Amino acid sequence: MYFGLFTFGLFPLLLQLFMYRYFFTALIFMISSLKEVQAQAEISFLVSFSEPQAHYADVEIQLSGNKKDFVDFKMPVWAPGSYLVREFAKNVEGFYAKDATDRSLAVQKINKNTWRVSAGGKETIKVAYRVYAYELSVRTSFIDDSHAFLSPTGIFMYAGGLISHPATVTIKPYGTWKKISTGLTPVKGKENTFYAPDFDILYDSPFEVGNQDVFDFEAAGVKHEVAMYGGGNYDKTRLAADMAKLVEEETAIFKENPNKHYVFIVHNTQSGGGGLEHLNSTVLGAPRLSYASETGYKNFLGLVAHEYFHLWNVKRLRPAALGPFDYDNENYTPDLWVAEGFTAYYDNMMLRRAGFYSPEKYLEALCDDIEKVENQAGSKIQPVSEASFDAWIKYYRPNENSKNSTISYYNKGALLGMILDLEILNATKGQKGLDDVMSGMYDEYYKHQKRGYTSEEFKSMAEKVSGISLDDFYRNYVYGIAPLNYNLHLGHAGLNLVNDNAGKNTSSLGITTVVKEDRFLVGSVIRGGAAWTDGLNVNDEIIAVDGYRVTGATDALRTTDLDKLIAERKAGDRVNVLISRDGLVISREVTLKASETGKYRIEADKNASLEQLALRKKWLKL
Ligand SMILES: [Zn+2]
Repeated sequence: MYFGLFTFGLFPLLLQLFMYRYFFTALIFMISSLKEVQAQAEISFLVSFSEPQAHYADVEIQLSGNKKDFVDFKMPVWAPGSYLVREFAKNVEGFYAKDATDRSLAVQKINKNTWRVSAGGKETIKVAYRVYAYELSVRTSFIDDSHAFLSPTGIFMYAGGLISHPATVTIKPYGTWKKISTGLTPVKGKENTFYAPDFDILYDSPFEVGNQDVFDFEAAGVKHEVAMYGGGNYDKTRLAADMAKLVEEETAIFKENPNKHYVFIVHNTQSGGGGLEHLNSTVLGAPRLSYASETGYKNFLGLVAHEYFHLWNVKRLRPAALGPFDYDNENYTPDLWVAEGFTAYYDNMMLRRAGFYSPEKYLEALCDDIEKVENQAGSKIQPVSEASFDAWIKYYRPNENSKNSTISYYNKGALLGMILDLEILNATKGQKGLDDVMSGMYDEYYKHQKRGYTSEEFKSMAEKVSGISLDDFYRNYVYGIAPLNYNLHLGHAGLNLVNDNAGKNTSSLGITTVVKEDRFLVGSVIRGGAAWTDGLNVNDEIIAVDGYRVTGATDALRTTDLDKLIAERKAGDRVNVLISRDGLVISREVTLKASETGKYRIEADKNASLEQLALRKKWLKL
C-alpha cells in the first residue's frame, strides 16, 4: 500500500490526514505492545525453612517488570488430580509486600485466597509469607526437621494475569539437608534453582527436600529417579528392574514416552498410601515395611503402574475441563471414569502384562472391583458420569450414607474399561483393543489438536476403533445405572462370573458395626436392608438382641455375638433389638432379610469355542 503525500483536492487531503493519523496511532500501538512483550514480568521464588521443626516454609517472591497499580497474589484452592477444594490459603500467614527499596506496600485481603498489593506501578515488588505445612498426604505439604515435601499448589502463589509466565524457584535446604528431587529443570549455574515455563507446570512439580535415598533407572529412553523418604525394607535393585518393566509396558501402549526425566517421590511411613500424578513426576505413599511381603510389594507396583499411566491418561490425554486449570474453583468433568477408572483398569492389567500377576491373580483382582461395585447400593442410584462430575462434593466428601447413594468412578470405571476392551476385541476379532482407543486419543487430542477431549469425542474414537455403535454402552452403563452384564462381556473370552453367595439366603440385619469408646454402634445402614426398613440408625448403640447382651467383642474368627445371633435366624424372622439412641433406650422389632452381598469369582467356560479361547489368550496375554 502506498500513501502519496501530495494528491489533489481537499477531500482526498482530509482522507489522507485521517489515514496518517490512523497509521501513526497503529504504529505507536505496535511499538508500545512490543515494549510490553520486551518488559515481560519476571517472577522468582525463594523457599527457605527457618523453623522446619514447627512445620513452616518461608516463601519470598520477587516480581519485576510490573507496571500495574495493584497486583493480586493468589493461592490455589485445590491440587489438580485431587478433586476437592482444600483452601490452601488457610495455611498462609504473615503476608507482607515491599518495593525494591524495601519500603512497605499496602496489602488488602480481597477474598479467601487473594492478597491485593498496592504496587503504584512500581517495577519491582517483593512479597513474603509463611506456610504452615503439617498434613502428610500426597497432595498436601509436610515439613518437619527431617525433610520438606512441597506440594506446589499450597506453597506458591501466582500473580493475577501472570499464570502463563515463567518462574524460577530457588530452594534453600535446611541444616544438613542435601538433596532436592523435582521434575522441574535445574537452571544452569544457579545452585538449587529450577525453571518452570509457566505456573501450570510449576503447580505440577512437587519438591522433596532433605536426605532422601535416591536411585535411578533408565527405561523407554527416559531417565527415572526414585526418591525414597522415610526408610523401609525395599530392595532398590529389584524395584528398579520391576519399575522399568512397567514403564516399558505402558510406553508400548502409547508408542511414545514424552518425558526425558521422570521423578518418583515416595513417602514411606508407618501406614502410608495413595498417589498423585504429575506431568513428569508422581508422589506415592507406602507403608515402610510393606515391601518384603508379596502382597505389599505388588500393591506398590500397582500404585506405580497407576500413577505412571496418568502421565498419558489425564496429564496429557485429558478431559476438556482438566487443563488449563482454574485454580480458584472446582473444575467439573463427567469423564473421571475414563481419566481415573481406565487408569485403574490398566494398573492391574499392567501387572498382568509385565508378568507380576498370573492370569488367575489378575481375574481375582478384577473380582475385587466387581464386589466393590455390586455390593454397593449406590451403584443402583448414581450413574458413573454423575459420580465423576460430583467428585468435589461426594467422592471426596463421603458421609455415613455415601455407600447407599454413590458409586466410585475408580471401581466402576475400571469395569467399564474391561467391558470396552472386551467389546472392542470381540468386534475386531482380536485385532484391536482399548489400547488402540487410548493411543488414538493421545495422538489426536494431545499431539495433534493440543487440547482436551469431550465425552462425545472419546465415544467417537472408541466407535471408530471398534467399528460398532456404543450408544447402548453409554446410555446404560455411563449415563445410566443398568446392571453390568458381566457374562455377556466376559463371555467373549469364554469366561463366566460366578456369585458363590447366590441362593444361600443368609439372614442379614443390613448394617455394619463399629466399636467406639467401648460402645457397640451401628456404623452404616445398608439401603433396602432390614435395618433400613425397620429404622435402626447410624450411631445407635446396640445393647441386646432377643434378650442376649451383645458387646462387639470378637472371637478368633472375628465374629461378634451379634453375628452369631443373626446367623442362627432365617430371613423373614423377627428379632428384638434393644438400642440406646441419644440417651434413650429403645426396643425395636426388626424383620431380617436375605443378604444381598455377593462373593464373586471368574471361571473359565469348559465349552469355550476356539474363537473365545483366542480372544482370552489375547486379552490376558496368555
Ligand atoms: Zn489415579
